[in-house]
Amino acid sequence: MGSRRECTRILGLEGYRVDRVEWEADGPRARVRIWIERRGVRGYQCAGCGRRTWRIRDAKARTWDDLPWAEHRVTLVYAQRRVRCRACGIRTERVGFADGHARITRRLRQVIGLDCQSMPTSHAAVRHGVSWSKARRAEKAFLTAWDRTRPRRRPRHLGADEIHRGKRQKFHTVLSDLVHGEVIGLAPERTEESLAGLLTTCLDPRQRAAVEAVCTDMHRPYLNAVAQELPKATVVLDKFHVLQHAGAALDEVRRHEFFRAGPVMRRFGRGKRWLLLRRWKTVRGSKRDELCALFAANRRLFKAYVLREHLDHLWTYKTRDGVATFLWGWLKALRWQRLPEMEKLGDTLVKHFDGIAAFCDHQVRFGVVESLNTTIKGVIRRGRGMKDESILLLKLKWATARPIRSSKDLAKFLYADVHSNR
Ligand SMILES: [Zn+2]
Repeated sequence: MGSRRECTRILGLEGYRVDRVEWEADGPRARVRIWIERRGVRGYQCAGCGRRTWRIRDAKARTWDDLPWAEHRVTLVYAQRRVRCRACGIRTERVGFADGHARITRRLRQVIGLDCQSMPTSHAAVRHGVSWSKARRAEKAFLTAWDRTRPRRRPRHLGADEIHRGKRQKFHTVLSDLVHGEVIGLAPERTEESLAGLLTTCLDPRQRAAVEAVCTDMHRPYLNAVAQELPKATVVLDKFHVLQHAGAALDEVRRHEFFRAGPVMRRFGRGKRWLLLRRWKTVRGSKRDELCALFAANRRLFKAYVLREHLDHLWTYKTRDGVATFLWGWLKALRWQRLPEMEKLGDTLVKHFDGIAAFCDHQVRFGVVESLNTTIKGVIRRGRGMKDESILLLKLKWATARPIRSSKDLAKFLYADVHSNR
């Protein structure tokens, strides 16, 4: 029958022809089983070493899920040989269209893996008619294959940060490449060991030697780990975190001024926390009036707010002397204000002056630190309940590296190299 040749052409698996087609049921969306056989056989490849041989021990029919034919789900059936390899002994035969042990074809894996990056795994599973666990395995294999073939870069600037993963899993340490804006590694806890482990396992000696600066917050264990593993690198304290400390100090002032000052003031200061933590330039309209009313009621809070806003200018200076002069002026403005919380912040800034001013020598991209944080939070929020850490890391890498930026990139993931046997 001519249709067998047509079927082979539609299936389009290089080196395989369609032997027969079976329908599992009647109806418009029945599953179809396609029996395939090798063609143009030049020996069978050993799955271990790739050597070709004719010495076959036995064969057993195995199945793989493949891309659907219109509405029909497809199962490929192929009698996979077991060969006697000279080097490896008895091994299964290597098939061109799927990885060893995988129960779906490589092209279906690519489609599912890509879909999982823009929709929940459960949706992708329904779309492609596989179980959730099969979809998750496909996604993991897809991301692993992508990660393996990426070039190993030598980042000049690293970022070390903690992420909060909820009450049970607590904190995680994230190591990232700030030049390319990509996540490199993920480790549980936020201890010295976790960061030191990341620095030694995720980076080879060549990569470690290239690091000039590490951007982190004032967390002591991180500073210790950097000093220990990368003695030549400079620590640059992250702007984002310094301003976060300033925000916390401002909040302390608010608490002190309103909540410990009797019921009338307390009622007045209630629900203003987020308003106060916002930057002046992002506050608009009636909210601005609200803020002004708050300041009119309490001058000290106003002073603290102005000081916090003013701290922003610190990062506009280009030299250490400039930064020092600015900080000196800032501390002077603080004097006689009776704001112990802000004074404490001032002490911290002075103590960490070297780290803060280090940005003059190393132009670390603070914006990247912040955008990485946002992306990471987004991925964690979408994948809530994600217990497997290795897939979380792979997803973070994918989300931050953004390998698909054009339709050409997408085509590369869908069509290129799917039949190759690497
Ligand atoms: Zn072999």
